[in-house]
Amino acid sequence: MALDRKTPNDLNAFWMPFTANRQFKKNPRMFVAAKDMHYTTSDGRQVLDGTAGLWCCNAGHCRPKITEAIQKQAGEMDYAPAFQMGHPIAFELANRLIDVAPDGMEHVFYTNSGSESVETALKLAIAYHRARGDGARTRLIGRERGYHGVNFGGISVGGIVTNRKVFGPLVPGVDHMPHTHLPDQNRYSKGQPEHGAHLADELERIVALHGAETIAAVIVEPMAGSTGVLLPPKGYLQKLREITRKHGILLIFDEVITGFGRLGAAFAAQHYGVVPDLMTTAKGLTNGVIPMGAVMCTAEVHDAFMNGPEHMIELFHGYTYSGNPIASAAAIATLDTYKEEGLFERAAELAPYWQDALHSLKGTRHVIDIRNEGLIGAIELEPIAGEPTKRAFSAFLKAYEKGILIRTTGDIIAMSPPLIISKEQIDELIGTLKDVLETLD
Ligand code: PLP
Repeated sequence: MALDRKTPNDLNAFWMPFTANRQFKKNPRMFVAAKDMHYTTSDGRQVLDGTAGLWCCNAGHCRPKITEAIQKQAGEMDYAPAFQMGHPIAFELANRLIDVAPDGMEHVFYTNSGSESVETALKLAIAYHRARGDGARTRLIGRERGYHGVNFGGISVGGIVTNRKVFGPLVPGVDHMPHTHLPDQNRYSKGQPEHGAHLADELERIVALHGAETIAAVIVEPMAGSTGVLLPPKGYLQKLREITRKHGILLIFDEVITGFGRLGAAFAAQHYGVVPDLMTTAKGLTNGVIPMGAVMCTAEVHDAFMNGPEHMIELFHGYTYSGNPIASAAAIATLDTYKEEGLFERAAELAPYWQDALHSLKGTRHVIDIRNEGLIGAIELEPIAGEPTKRAFSAFLKAYEKGILIRTTGDIIAMSPPLIISKEQIDELIGTLKDVLETLD
């Protein structure tokens, strides 16, 4: 029965995702507007966006070209079926994506989110082997501390315990490589850490245990973001590529965070010089404005499906909103904005300044490690004894009061500002964070 609501904005009905609902609803934090580098709060304050929303608004907020493209497309054609019918703008976007993707990526499959991109890539990998008559290859290999969204495939290959442990037995036939975080050897590394390439050899151990002929794919974030910014040690991704190739295993890069300029190149694959067989994307694809994801793959993966009678559907997979016209228009305008403003290059140019600013926090109260790459940074705090996550969450609340938006995971503060951030704004972000940490219990 519907409750009799006294106020239209009663906070009770909305069960918020990944949120401490009871804490939030006692003391809500509301954004009501956004422009470029700032949010406006419901009490009229400006908050500097240190996280590009949720790692997604790479060009900053309310960018005119993207807004106009959405308005125009909504008036022209709101929706068109994605199955057995097409519309030009989705094809145009696919070509634009291939233009910025690493050489070797030749086809695009649309989804609505990072989580759906992951499910799509995992299904494609298994179905690819089957299409080639190698149907025993069904096993999927992820990595400890990996984040691949919240659907069943993604949490199965993912390695964040809180996201997995209450959801039952998950997808069978999954194994995990060790994560690449070696704080004793790599603490305060600038960019890629020196130590840890050998951790890729763990894949050989897993192959020896299960047999290569049972393994469909390995999925990793080239740089693990959501778990708290864990970088690939030098040579690690190259080794993964060699081992997967040697054993006929597909390599999937989950580029949902690292895609669209975050590391100073269009994709991490280009930044690190390692090209996978499939790549998952979302977030920065539309500047976070409209839900959309895309999986890119090689011709070899795609062509394996293009057999059989031509009137037959080749892949029984897709979403009602795959390649939605308004999302496609938003994505094209986003790619235009990135290109016209040279934002990927800008991220690369700003990266050394960002690195110096972040590492200036070494020695600040509670700080036990700092990590960075491109325009991503993490500051790890000493947890309060017996109360993990509490110190970083307090830092987040205090930072918000002082006018900066940061993100925390465990006792790690992660930052990923829009690529339009200025040096002065970097100083403001880091300076405010320093004040926050110095005055934190
Ligand atoms: N994969 C990675 C690497 C991510 O970082 C995320 C989200 O942060 C996802 C997948 C899931 O994306 P979404 O929240 O759009 O489903």
